Amino acid sequence: MPVQTFTEEQVRRYHRHLIMPQVGARGQKKLLNARVLLIGAGGLGSPAALYLAAAGVGTLGIIDFDTVDLSNLQRQIIHRTDAVGMLKVDSAAETIRGINPDVNVVKYPVALTSENAFEILDGYDIIVDGTDNFPVRYLVNDASVMTGKTVVHGSIFQFDGQVTVFKPGAGPCYRCLFPAPPPPGAVPNCAEAGVLGVLPGIVGCIQAVETMKLILGEGEPLIGRLLIFDALAMEFSEVKLRRDPNCPVCGDHPTIHELIDYEQFCGLPSREPVGTH
Ligand SMILES: [Zn+2]
Repeated sequence: MPVQTFTEEQVRRYHRHLIMPQVGARGQKKLLNARVLLIGAGGLGSPAALYLAAAGVGTLGIIDFDTVDLSNLQRQIIHRTDAVGMLKVDSAAETIRGINPDVNVVKYPVALTSENAFEILDGYDIIVDGTDNFPVRYLVNDASVMTGKTVVHGSIFQFDGQVTVFKPGAGPCYRCLFPAPPPPGAVPNCAEAGVLGVLPGIVGCIQAVETMKLILGEGEPLIGRLLIFDALAMEFSEVKLRRDPNCPVCGDHPTIHELIDYEQFCGLPSREPVGTH
C-alpha cells in the first residue's frame, strides 16, 4: 500500500524535508514509496543504505552473500564489531531498523548471477551499484539496460573514487565506457589494492544524494557525467560521457542479448575511462 498520509511521528522525523520546497510532503511520500536495490552492503553500500534509510526511502533491497569480517569495519560503517560473523544483510537490516523503523529491508543473502538477476532487480526503481567486482558490475549493467532501470554507479580504488548515473535511453551505460571486462589477473585483487577508510563514505554518500534526486525528480543527475574524486589532491573533477552507438548492450545494434557470468576478479579496469570526451 503506497504511503498517503503521515503519522505524527513521521511529521516530526521528516520535518527538515517537509519544510523544503523541493521535497515537502509530496517528495517525502515519493521517498517512502520508493524501492531502491543496493548491490552490496560493503564500503559504498553502508553509507548509502544508512542515509537512504534515515531519509525515509521506504523499501531498501540489499543483496550481499558475504558475512561481516573484522577487516570490513575500517570502512563498512553499517556493521558493528559485535556483528562480525553475521550475514551482512542481517547486520545491515538490524542497523537500519535502529535508525528508521519506517524502512522495509528486503534481504538477499545470495550472489547475483545471470540466473537470479532479473528476478531480484524486478520491482526496484533504482539500483545503487556498490559492488567491488567486475562480474557483478557487468551483470548489473546488462540487466539494467535490458529492463530500463537506472543505476547509480560508484567505484573506489585506494584514494580515488568515481560516481555516475547510468539511465538507459538518456545516457551511456557501463559498457559504453568499458565494453568488456579485462582478463582475470590484469587488475589488482581487492584485498591487495587497499582503500582509504573514509573514501567509500564520500562516494557512497554522493550515490545516496543522486538516488534521492532521482526519486524526487529534482536537480541535475550525473547522467552522462563521471564525477571523479581524488582524495589525495582533495579535488573533484568531471568528464562527459557519451553513449557509444557501437556499445554491445545499449548501442544501435546490440550483440549482447542475455546475461553473462564472468569469472570473479576485482579492481578498476584502468585509471582513466576510455571512450570519454
Ligand atoms: Zn552502452
